[in-house]
Amino acid sequence: MKVLKFGGSSLASATSIKLILDIIKNEQQKLWVVVSASGKTTDNLVRLTQLAHAKDENYKADLKLLEQHHITICKELLPIAAQTSVIAMIKSSCNALEQLLDAVYWLEDLSPKTQDKIISFGELLSAQLLEKIASQEIESVKYKDSRELISTNSQFTYAKVNFDKTNATIASFQKQNQAKVTILGGFISSNETNETTTLGRGGSDYSAAIYAAALDAEVLEIWTDVSGLYAANPKLVKQAKPIANISYEEAMELSHFGAKVIYPPTIKPVLEKEIPIKIKNTFDANAEGTIISNSSNGKHQTIKGISHIEDISLLTLEGLGMIGIHGISKRLFEVLANNHINIVMITQASSEHSICIAVAKENSKNAEQLINNVFKNEIAEHLIQHIIVENDLAILAVVGDQMKSHQGISGTLFSALGRNNINIRAIAQGASEKNISCVIKSNNVKKALNCIHAAFFEAHIKELNVFIAGVGNVGGKLISQLQQQQEYLKEALNLNVKIIGVANSKQYYINENGLGNSDWQINLSNQMRSNNVSYYDAIAALNKQNSVFVDVTANEVVANSYADLLRKSISVVACNKIACSSDYNYYKELKYLAKKFKASFLYETNVGAGLPIIKTVQNLISSGDQITEIQAVLSGSLNFIFNEYTNGELFSTIVKKAQSEGYTEPDPRIDLSGKDVARKILILIREAGIPIEFEAIKNNPMLPKGSLEAASVNDFYNLIKAENEHFKQLLLEAKNQDSKLKYVASYKDGIASVGLQFIPKEHPFYNLEGKDNIVSFYTNRYQEQPLIIKGAGAGADVTASGLFADIIQIGSAS
Ligand code: ADP
Ligand code: ASP
Ligand code: MG
Repeated sequence: MKVLKFGGSSLASATSIKLILDIIKNEQQKLWVVVSASGKTTDNLVRLTQLAHAKDENYKADLKLLEQHHITICKELLPIAAQTSVIAMIKSSCNALEQLLDAVYWLEDLSPKTQDKIISFGELLSAQLLEKIASQEIESVKYKDSRELISTNSQFTYAKVNFDKTNATIASFQKQNQAKVTILGGFISSNETNETTTLGRGGSDYSAAIYAAALDAEVLEIWTDVSGLYAANPKLVKQAKPIANISYEEAMELSHFGAKVIYPPTIKPVLEKEIPIKIKNTFDANAEGTIISNSSNGKHQTIKGISHIEDISLLTLEGLGMIGIHGISKRLFEVLANNHINIVMITQASSEHSICIAVAKENSKNAEQLINNVFKNEIAEHLIQHIIVENDLAILAVVGDQMKSHQGISGTLFSALGRNNINIRAIAQGASEKNISCVIKSNNVKKALNCIHAAFFEAHIKELNVFIAGVGNVGGKLISQLQQQQEYLKEALNLNVKIIGVANSKQYYINENGLGNSDWQINLSNQMRSNNVSYYDAIAALNKQNSVFVDVTANEVVANSYADLLRKSISVVACNKIACSSDYNYYKELKYLAKKFKASFLYETNVGAGLPIIKTVQNLISSGDQITEIQAVLSGSLNFIFNEYTNGELFSTIVKKAQSEGYTEPDPRIDLSGKDVARKILILIREAGIPIEFEAIKNNPMLPKGSLEAASVNDFYNLIKAENEHFKQLLLEAKNQDSKLKYVASYKDGIASVGLQFIPKEHPFYNLEGKDNIVSFYTNRYQEQPLIIKGAGAGADVTASGLFADIIQIGSAS
């Protein structure tokens, strides 16, 4: 025979109950079917009780909803003729519930005993309802009240089972039980005086295990809403996969540390009889699921899974007076045990001068008082300090039977956390070496689970989570390049580059699972314009591992956000030059923060779009070379303008053309004023290791001041029309000198300047075409012949691919 247990979500609706019936009908053998309360009924009953206790009459309306929920299922699944008696059963149960809740309301008293009585109705209703529905389609179905079978002590809400009595009762009941399918409510039981008790939240799994052991079942099947026990909670780690085989001990450790899919005490009764547990998905019955047994499958896997417990507080007892004194730990543990406070984790430094324990947050206040009281004499004598309490923590546990025979597990674990800037508050390793657990901040849990999962289970694939700011010409190109190359990057570089967020100056759109190939423009334009949470806060709140912020704007506010992002270990890839060319201290600070918080700060596209100029300077400097002179044409836009401006067309017309083809900054004055080129040479000089400020760059303006100060870009176009004649003269003079007009940036002997120059025919810059850039570096190693980098230095495609390369560089870093 088999015992099948169905969880709350499997009983939540008529549709899911039909799935249960299909599963039962498929079985040939005798079955015991144990069910949880329907959907969130137990949570709702707890809430109703709290409302009544708090003198809030809303419990009445909420109870009606609960009644209606069950009646709806009954109406959807039963023929009319069969409905009347079942609806009567539901109503009379809800009446009884109402009387209990009224009593709580009027007496303003809620004992654990009353609480148990109230919450038992969830399983009483669901099991009886299922029996009526199943009887319509299946022969020989019987309902049995679990309270008549499972005997416990009187520790209400968390009762302890009397196995001798329980096993005997189950055996004698089964002897005369002819039913093919016996349906029972999980979770509920009764004490010596037949009062209702419960086995602890999540306890239906335990009831099913008790039945399976007592009946010597062939297997215990736990049917739930996920396809097995996963290597990490699949709701938090999307990449996680179900574990095919796992030992009882491993499953016990994982569930103890929060893998809610199985209630921790469940394993013990079946382990003693070596009955395997299968975890299956009601909503995907064909999925393999997980088998928990003694079988040694999966030996090659050192780590089986990662789990975590939220709402943990850490209590630290510290003091020099603790060293070498016997009995401190004994008194500490004793006082907690005597007050039923469970210690989830313990660590003690070998110096013995501090001891750290983790308890559930709900117990922390009580524990703090008890401990301070126990050690009040030592505290008064300053031998021990008052206990230190830290809240908002979580415990994370990495579990595997084979851990003991493998080195380097904790190294992998802690370096994954360290790389992602996750601080560890305490560490413990069980003597059995089946688990390493550590305490971290709650807001880091999701990130920690994902990066540890990646380190142990997907070591070959690294996920990068990309957030883009600025989706104009270049940003749009970058998104389509990343979308197109996503599969290739996975295969060739083992990189899963996911664009999680996109933003323009007004709104942002975030999809935690990645935009994929979706139409992000539509999603972005559908966002609410006024969002109270800023893009940066939304990114920080997601707290994803390997986050990369890509700034494709030319905006100062965005540039000012880098420091905060880096402090959160979010890497920054900037196309925007403002950060690197503003105050030198800010530029230095960003580099420092990147190092400190193990993030990257890359900005190759600041100079020469996709050309590898900055990387080259960095490589020269880090290999010990020194740059002595730089000569460069660094403005693709100005080069384009002066190359086009040869004859015929007016200067102003050509500027407009350059802008409309995307070769200038959004505001072309930034190019024409020389400001953009000055920023670029500034960045190169800084990269060469020379501290310099923007003001030190001599800018020989080529346009009169007035036109640059025009109120708008449009006004500016009107004003430069007046300059057409001036440029015509310049062009004429250049021709007379057999030269070309080039906008050149140079640096030598501590002096940097930018300005328009006549470049003679024999000069290497003379033939610089289209929107190309060229840089000549003279260094200690390149004294005679400079190191020259030349190529397309503007344009959306090449700039986007420069950004792409920076993003990949982050992915390739360890
Ligand atoms: P049921 O109502 O069927 O008893 P539970 O909600 O108690 O279901 O348990 C199933 C849930 O356990 C899953 O939906 C999932 O969110 C959670 N869970 C946590 N850790 C794990 C894990 N490692 N593997 C599978 N599920 C997990
Ligand atoms: N219904 C109970 C609860 O929600 C028991 C269970 O579902 O396992 O805690
Ligand atoms: Mg459960």
